[in-house]
Amino acid sequence: MLLGILKESAQGETRVALLPSSLKSLLAQGIAITVESGAGAFSGASDAAYTEAGAAVTADRASILSNADLIPVVNAPNAADQASLKHHAVVLGFLKPLDAPQALAPAIERPVTLFSMELIPRISRAQAMDALSSMATVAGYKAVIAAADRLPRLFPMLMTAAGTIPPARVFVIGAGVAGLQAIATARRLGAVVEAYDVRAAAGEQVRSLGAKFLDVDLGGISAEGGGGYAAELTEEALDRGRDLITRTAAHSDVIVTTAQVPGRPAPRLIRRAAIEAMRPGSVLVDLAAPAGGNCELTQPGLTQIIGGVTLLAPLNLPAEVPVDSSALYARNILNFLSLIVKNGNLTVDLADEILSGACVSHQGKPVNPRVAKLLQPLPAPTG
Ligand code: NAD
Repeated sequence: MLLGILKESAQGETRVALLPSSLKSLLAQGIAITVESGAGAFSGASDAAYTEAGAAVTADRASILSNADLIPVVNAPNAADQASLKHHAVVLGFLKPLDAPQALAPAIERPVTLFSMELIPRISRAQAMDALSSMATVAGYKAVIAAADRLPRLFPMLMTAAGTIPPARVFVIGAGVAGLQAIATARRLGAVVEAYDVRAAAGEQVRSLGAKFLDVDLGGISAEGGGGYAAELTEEALDRGRDLITRTAAHSDVIVTTAQVPGRPAPRLIRRAAIEAMRPGSVLVDLAAPAGGNCELTQPGLTQIIGGVTLLAPLNLPAEVPVDSSALYARNILNFLSLIVKNGNLTVDLADEILSGACVSHQGKPVNPRVAKLLQPLPAPTG
């Protein structure tokens, strides 16, 4: 069996799916590994390091695509790459199957077996494969660092002979994995932190990090979706959150917003009025930008200054920390591979709930029911 490691082609992507340190157990099973030259260049992994670890390195991307039986990736290969994949190869990575299922059509039709890191069920057995969580952890940290860098104030309270500087006030919206890491990072830097999440269960975690949890009465509506995620809320329930956010924005120096509902556009929680309520010089980091953004003024990927408030909408913060992001991601990939590679052979057993949950397509057919539904052809018009 041949495993291929590609140089990621998406713009701005610096991560790599597997590092030289990840290869030992795979090579020990007799798997041959070919790496595209330069694949680990930003992640501290030179071509020489891959060679030393026992892989072959080539500049011939096309030969990896057409010969590899197994290709772990960070992002989905583009349409041209998908069309040259080996028949019945297995590709796994962040494939965005719920956001852009049609973009995977060339690989599904090839047919290629696709596993999506986004769809791995959130059960305890799958925690070591949970790449969404590891990347969200990096993004939460980096969002606070980016905000601290832009803010014309200091984060910690300073008592000096020249007077006292009050601590920065940070407001974190969405206290999931990214939000909790943002809270922890802001607290470590000495800020006073408040946080809001629709899931009441997040309150205890927020408080345990030394931040204040802001509760909103949702009028009895359940905000808990499946698998630890939030449910999509009604406009009325969202409005209650929006009002709280506008009030809290007025005394916040930094807002880091992370609210997401899987497979749906990010909830629009921050109105123009909230930005206008912030003091000039304040910073808002919209981590939900890849899903459209939590702020109605967000333009994904762009930095704007609105009435003196800096609005950052980064699309890929983990790529700004490629060494550690790749190290975490490679471990997630390796743990997933242990389910589909046995004694050097590919064995895809869809009776395993992790595999059936994460499987976008197998033998030319969609497997995950949510993806299957999205890929269904539209019914022919009647009448
Ligand atoms: P996510 O990225 O989908 O969402 C981020 C946060 O936004 C969530 O906490 C969500 O409740 C919140 N949110 C959604 N809509 C909102 C709204 N209208 N207003 C305010 N907040 C809103 O979620 P995530 O961070 O990936 O994970 C959420 C939770 O899932 C985690 O905190 C954790 O408890 C759980 N989890 C479980 C496992 C596991 O068991 N293996 C792994 C990871 C996470």
